[in-house]
Amino acid sequence: MSEISKNLQAVREAISKTAKEYNQPVESISLIAVSKKQPNSRIEEMLNTGHRVYGENRVQEAQQRWEHRRASYSDLELHLIGSLQTNKAKDAVSLFDYIHTVDRPKLVRALAKEMRTQDKYCPCFIQVNTGEEEQKSGVLSQNLPDLLQLCREEKLPIIGLMCIPPVDETVGVHFAFLKKLAKQHDLEKLSMGMSSDFEKAIPLGATHIRVGTSLFGVRTEK
Ligand SMILES: *Cc1c(COP(=O)(O)O)cnc(C)c1O
Repeated sequence: MSEISKNLQAVREAISKTAKEYNQPVESISLIAVSKKQPNSRIEEMLNTGHRVYGENRVQEAQQRWEHRRASYSDLELHLIGSLQTNKAKDAVSLFDYIHTVDRPKLVRALAKEMRTQDKYCPCFIQVNTGEEEQKSGVLSQNLPDLLQLCREEKLPIIGLMCIPPVDETVGVHFAFLKKLAKQHDLEKLSMGMSSDFEKAIPLGATHIRVGTSLFGVRTEK
């Protein structure tokens, strides 16, 4: 068995174990394999396991890695998990199936316009800056209601919320806060948890966990 399939098996086992322990429905947890900055050989190995759900944080890099593979893997599911510039909205809508990083009015309008033009409506998450960090993307929680209202007006399909907790804080507090916000706004999906903390996100209701290094190993590409 390849290193990558062993990793995949280990992560899947950890997901089921944690979900069971905390009474979460394991079938509603989607494992996004974050393939950014990973060499081709590892991507091929992961594809050979049959795993089809991948996450990328840059549009251009994702195009190079995945566009040519679409034809061979019709069941591929691509998630954009990195921040998005409005001038890349067109390419993002065309390549990705899900967008996790909607966080400002200008981007809402750009994405909604592109989805209408391409007649392709990708389910989106709103990224919330739960730690209120200056350098981090994401809407501040107090601005979430207005942004959601705009999404409704623009008919941008929002299915849930996403966050990346500050590195030096207890992640559970942020995951619990995100869950509370989602509940307040009647949103079903929660994109939270990475290699280091997905086992803390699952008890708090994560439906999409984004795991890179635990699956592929340390990132090697620039
Ligand atoms: C890179 C990245 C991940 C994966 O991080 P790992 O620590 O490698 O699991 C998850 N989410 C986002 C937004 C990322 O940019």
